[in-house]
Amino acid sequence: MNGNILIVEDERKLAAVMADYLQQAGFSTSCLEDGTIVVEWVREHNPELILLDLMLPGKGGLDICREIRSFSTVPIIMTTARIEEIDRLLGLEMGADDYICKPFSPREVVARVRAVLRRAGNGATTKAAGLILDESRYLASFNGREMDLTAVEFKLLQFLAANPGRIYGRQQLMDHIYPDERIVADRTIDSHIKKLRKKIAVAVPDEELIHSVYGVGYKLEI
Ligand code: CA
Repeated sequence: MNGNILIVEDERKLAAVMADYLQQAGFSTSCLEDGTIVVEWVREHNPELILLDLMLPGKGGLDICREIRSFSTVPIIMTTARIEEIDRLLGLEMGADDYICKPFSPREVVARVRAVLRRAGNGATTKAAGLILDESRYLASFNGREMDLTAVEFKLLQFLAANPGRIYGRQQLMDHIYPDERIVADRTIDSHIKKLRKKIAVAVPDEELIHSVYGVGYKLEI
């Protein structure tokens, strides 16, 4: 079952065509045309992906994208009528996941949506015995108690929780957290784990989820 795609587009005909094709592809869709209400809507409805027009009445796509990124990692595909805008947008790194230039074929939109969702792992939610990790919002909770984690801590916990009981070496954890960096001190992981444990202890004082395995690495036990 595919999730909800939010289409933010002030050209109604275009929005209707996109909605049509996405629905035929099995997605449900919602459409907004006024830029000022988008951020609140996203907070409330937590869509699976957003197609966001750059030029909107009320509030522009760039501002909207920036605001959404302050609380959500939901995949965002920006749409713009100006091809020369694309280079500028890429340079700005506003946190959008992809850009599509108008005019586009609706089929291209569906293909891009699928590709971005695949890349984003469908905003996967990991659930293991009371532990819930919602990747689309970077929200972690244990037995209903939320933990205030950084992106790195979230990724670490998510990685460990994918295989409870399995022991991961420091190098494996580092490769996961810093895939592009080759020179990160070994002890960086220890310091992240230490902070992560402290935050887990604040949320659930009587449970120890992360265990050290002497000389080897770490594992998560639930
Ligand atoms: Ca527009």
